[in-house]
Amino acid sequence: MMLSSPWRADFPALANLAHQGLVYLDSAATAQKPQPLLDALQHYYAQGVANVHRAQHRLGNRTTQAFEQVREQVAHWLQAPVDSEIIFTRGTTEAINLLAYGLEAQIQPGDELVISALEHHANLLPWQQLALRRGARLVVLPLDASGQLDLVAAQSLIGPRTRTLAISQLSNVLGNWLPLKPLIQQAQAQGAWVVVDGAQGIVHQPPNLKQLGCDFYVFSSHKVYGPDGLGVLYGRRAALAQLQPWQFGGEMLDHTDYYRAQFRPAPLGFEAGTPPIASVLGFAATLNYLYQIDQAAWIAHEQRLHSNLLTGLQQRSGIRILGQPQAALVSFTHESVHPSDLAQLISEQGVAIRTGSHCAQPLMQHLGINGALRVSLGLYNDQQDLERFFQALDQALELLV
Ligand code: PMP
Repeated sequence: MMLSSPWRADFPALANLAHQGLVYLDSAATAQKPQPLLDALQHYYAQGVANVHRAQHRLGNRTTQAFEQVREQVAHWLQAPVDSEIIFTRGTTEAINLLAYGLEAQIQPGDELVISALEHHANLLPWQQLALRRGARLVVLPLDASGQLDLVAAQSLIGPRTRTLAISQLSNVLGNWLPLKPLIQQAQAQGAWVVVDGAQGIVHQPPNLKQLGCDFYVFSSHKVYGPDGLGVLYGRRAALAQLQPWQFGGEMLDHTDYYRAQFRPAPLGFEAGTPPIASVLGFAATLNYLYQIDQAAWIAHEQRLHSNLLTGLQQRSGIRILGQPQAALVSFTHESVHPSDLAQLISEQGVAIRTGSHCAQPLMQHLGINGALRVSLGLYNDQQDLERFFQALDQALELLV
């Protein structure tokens, strides 16, 4: 059966790439953009820009109003509880750094900062470095042999010294969903703050934060068909009130003299300097676009393609699939070919997939490999893209094996 995507035509880059003979299967690195986002950026820049929260002129007020509305739109999309705020950052990486620095004063020597063994460097290094600065202990929740989080072992590692739990919703390498609910409840029962890294998860299933109950949730707009340079930090107001600001500059304060300052509460107290205004306004257009897509059809499309991708890889000898991928991406190695050699030949045939450590070097060590290839899907991919990938893979293997 030829699986086509009803949304492909909404992404002009796909046709342009096709003209150049290129196939894009690297959406987990960053996603192509829908036409409404391009229109919104063009509109904003062509109609006259203004800075937000500063100007008293009409243009400034209009821009500020539109900017603030996007916060509400994002909160609605995340099904965020009312006692919460949306903070705009430059990406997931910046959002997690904001949290690690914001919580620093509360971390004492001997406290435990918990992460899982499959975290992206963006959700490992800020906590690793915080632990080193404060004499705290980084606790790593282990994986079982199949690459799934070992829930029983994990639960035994969350205890009275746990101050933070920072964990992914969906692995960007193994493609598996993590069992968040029991871990969140257990960590919060110990008085710890829970940070969920939704950078990969939100692309395939927007969370219901009312149900999830985490204290903080972060993601990047560019992976979910929005512009780059923009991230989102959701926080419960009570949790945000515990954070110290970490970047200092314009519009994040109520009052300052030369020697002391009084800072604003969230969100503005955590948005020092001119924010990525065009990206925020553009993201609103992406969200409106995503809203009118039938979610069930979208998920079903990705699942069918994902299953074809998995089956095709499983049928080829010498391929080892990493973990037990559940959503829209598959990482793999070949028993006798180096990943970068394979990736090079696949790339020469016009197919874009990712290779390397996927910003998860400790996970690669755990799996006993020095890198892997990853094919990842967006809602615009179709069966023809997969066929092109398999053709390229087979030709590369013919040359290399
Ligand atoms: N966490 C996960 C799970 C990711 O997949 C990514 C992006 N690949 C990040 C964090 C970092 O996101 P960014 O580079 O946009 O800050």
